[in-house]
Amino acid sequence: MRKEKYEFPLEEYISSKEFKKIKRFSRDKETPFLIVDLEKIRVMYDQIVEHMSFVKIYYAVKANPMDEVITTLKDKGSSFDVATIYEVDQLLRLEVEPGRISYGNTIKKEKDIAYAYERGIRLFVTDCESDLRKLARNAPGSRVFFRVLTESDGADWPLSRKFGAHPDIIYKLILKSHALGLEPYGLSFHVGSQQRDIGQWDNAISKCKYLFTAAAEKGIHLRMINLGGGFPAKYLSPANELETYAHEIYRFLYEDFGEELPEIIIEPGRSLTADAGIIVSEVVMVSKKAKFNQYRWVYLDIGKFGGLIETLDECIKYPIYCEKKGCAEEVILAGPTCDSMDILYEDHKYTFPHTLKEGNRVYIFTTGAYTQSYCSVAFNGFPPLKAYVL
Ligand SMILES: *Cc1c(COP(=O)(O)O)cnc(C)c1O
Repeated sequence: MRKEKYEFPLEEYISSKEFKKIKRFSRDKETPFLIVDLEKIRVMYDQIVEHMSFVKIYYAVKANPMDEVITTLKDKGSSFDVATIYEVDQLLRLEVEPGRISYGNTIKKEKDIAYAYERGIRLFVTDCESDLRKLARNAPGSRVFFRVLTESDGADWPLSRKFGAHPDIIYKLILKSHALGLEPYGLSFHVGSQQRDIGQWDNAISKCKYLFTAAAEKGIHLRMINLGGGFPAKYLSPANELETYAHEIYRFLYEDFGEELPEIIIEPGRSLTADAGIIVSEVVMVSKKAKFNQYRWVYLDIGKFGGLIETLDECIKYPIYCEKKGCAEEVILAGPTCDSMDILYEDHKYTFPHTLKEGNRVYIFTTGAYTQSYCSVAFNGFPPLKAYVL
């Protein structure tokens, strides 16, 4: 039987010039490590500004909290969405003004609210009455926005159920916040990360419109909608271009709000940083488990605990490239730790050249978001993923 040649559309992810640069940079470094190209983040930021001129950007710090990434975005004029006081501290250390920080986690301790407020944070999210009361006690007069529950259908990495509340609850919170001396400022939602169904924004925006109207009938005029994240990065499963997202989302907003758009915020994490990262990894072992097993197992020196946790349920499928030539062979890919859940891809078969062997390097693209910050401290003694900037 004649086998097909191993092929990989490298140019879709990196130009040959850039790839040469990556190889030169990584030649004498011990794998695994992440390389983040800050210029790509700048270009992506500019693209968002170009296509979505109607939004204000709050970068979701959790996607990639490296100091260099934060500083790059700060210099571009970005604002920031944080989840904890630790992220607040980091941003203040990097001289981001507190007025550019939004405390976007619905789950917070009373003393953490006080801590953020003392340091000048005046914008908070909420989705529940006890949290609202904590805000009223510890962050008096602050602007609050209310997280509306949305479905995450169509998202590769859903954020459903845990955050947000039904519009009926949100309506009551809006009225209560006003009575408690806070400023009911707007609404937010997150349609799920790597959301490939743009229609999900339509549903969520409709819920916002309904709440804007209901609040206005009580004399409360909300002023802001936070469209969250969910914008795409370039993985194996195809997604529309950012331009299409921008166009469609603007149309949904226009349908509901006409010319009088409220202030619009977005909180991109993945779409700003994922495409700017490449993980360089090495094949540790290749094995065949029984004589007539169809598939070889390829064990890399990075796995679920080393930063690739988004391979859980094979949700995120990273483009992975090997420079060897040969026939295309389907393999099972796994990580290096002593945990049997540390298998990267088994259902979805990745192809590699049949010549692939131990010691070869592989390049994992689109890994600038949710990798280094997700990796374990020292599971099996493996150190956290190293990261370099270009
Ligand atoms: C994680 C998160 C984001 C970023 O989402 P992406 O899909 O990575 O862009 C934005 N907002 C909130 C509240 C989040 O928790």
